[in-house]
Amino acid sequence: MQDCIFCRIVRGELPSEQVYQTDAVLAFLDIAPIAPGHVLVIPKQHYATLWDVPDHLAPQLNQVLQIVGQAVLKATHASGLNVVMNNYASAGQVVPHAHWHLIPRRENDGLLQVVQEKYESNQSMREMAEGIRRAVAG
Ligand code: AMP
Ligand code: ZN
Repeated sequence: MQDCIFCRIVRGELPSEQVYQTDAVLAFLDIAPIAPGHVLVIPKQHYATLWDVPDHLAPQLNQVLQIVGQAVLKATHASGLNVVMNNYASAGQVVPHAHWHLIPRRENDGLLQVVQEKYESNQSMREMAEGIRRAVAG
């Protein structure tokens, strides 16, 4: 049995505002929302990151993201929605139980602003793509 915040929410040992669930997936409000209506979608079983979640759960997770995402848009009257997943601490993952954030957005709300960089040259961009293609091929 995992001593993990989200596993404890699944087991009902910690309170949560649940909004939807299936046999294998749970959606509940984030306790510290980036915007009101910010929801977390998790597999009920404990998996640490995206790469630990088994393939057979992917269709059900996608279905819940679509259903609850639509419901968040409707209930909050937002005009946009971010689906965000942080994997590993350096990417901002604080809870090591795989989860997707659904974050309602409005025009010019100023949330989630990132600075994008440029490649130094076309050559360095090509080398990066080549490195990733090699990694994909194994
Ligand atoms: P991450 O940084 O991607 O690991 O996100 C973890 C999220 O879990 C944060 O947005 C927290 O606000 C949220 N969180 C932590 N504890 C709880 C809790 N007990 N109930 C609901 N959300 C929580
Ligand atoms: Zn867990």
